[in-house]
Amino acid sequence: KTWHQTGLSDKMLNTIKSLTYEKPMPIQAQVLPIIMSGRDCIGIAKTGSGKTLAFVLPMLRHIMNQPSRESGDGPIGLIMAPTRELVQQIHSDIKKFARVMGLTCVPVYGGRMIDILCTSGGKITNLRRVTYLVMDEADRMFDMGFESRIASIVQNTQPDRQTVLFSATFPRQVEILARKVLNNPVKIQV
Ligand code: AMP
Repeated sequence: KTWHQTGLSDKMLNTIKSLTYEKPMPIQAQVLPIIMSGRDCIGIAKTGSGKTLAFVLPMLRHIMNQPSRESGDGPIGLIMAPTRELVQQIHSDIKKFARVMGLTCVPVYGGRMIDILCTSGGKITNLRRVTYLVMDEADRMFDMGFESRIASIVQNTQPDRQTVLFSATFPRQVEILARKVLNNPVKIQV
C-alpha cells in the first residue's frame, strides 16, 4: 500500500514525504481507511508501530472538514494520553502537520484538562465542539487510575462524535470502556 492510496490531502502527503516516511506502516495502512470512512475504531498496537499518525492524520482531516472550525471556541479534536511524555510526543508529531494546515494544537497536562472542565464550569474552554475523540494507551490510563477522569471528559464531548481507542493490550476493563464510549467499532490488531 502507498501513501497515495490513503486518500490524504496533498498538504499531508507533502509533509509525509518531507519526513521521508516511504510507505504507511501496517497499523496505518489498516486503520486509516476505517477512520477516514467515519467509523469508530479500536487499534491494538504498541509504541513504535506508527499508531500516532494512524489517529492524528484522520483527526486533522476531520477538523479541516468542519465548516465551523474558524468560528466558536474549544477544540474539535481531542486526544487523551496517560503521561506528560506521551502527550509531548503526540504534540510534536501533530505540529509537523498542523502548521502547514493552519491548525492549532495545544498540549494540556497534569490534571489541567479536568481543572479547566470541572472547576471553571467550562468557562476557560469547553469540549462541546469535540467531534473527534482519541484515547491513546487506554490500558495504561486504567493502570494509572484515570477511569473516572476519562468518563467526565467523554461526557463533555459531542454524543455523535467519532471515537478512536488505542491500547497495547485489551483487558476486560478496556473492553468495557470501549463498549460504553465507542459506537459499533471496527477492531484492528497488528
Ligand atoms: P509511534 O508508534 O506512533 O510512536 O511511531 C513510531 C515512530 O515511527 C515515530 O518516530 C514516527 O515518527 C515514525 N513513523 C511513523 N509513521 C512512519 C512511517 N510510515 N514510516 C516510517 N516511520 C514512521
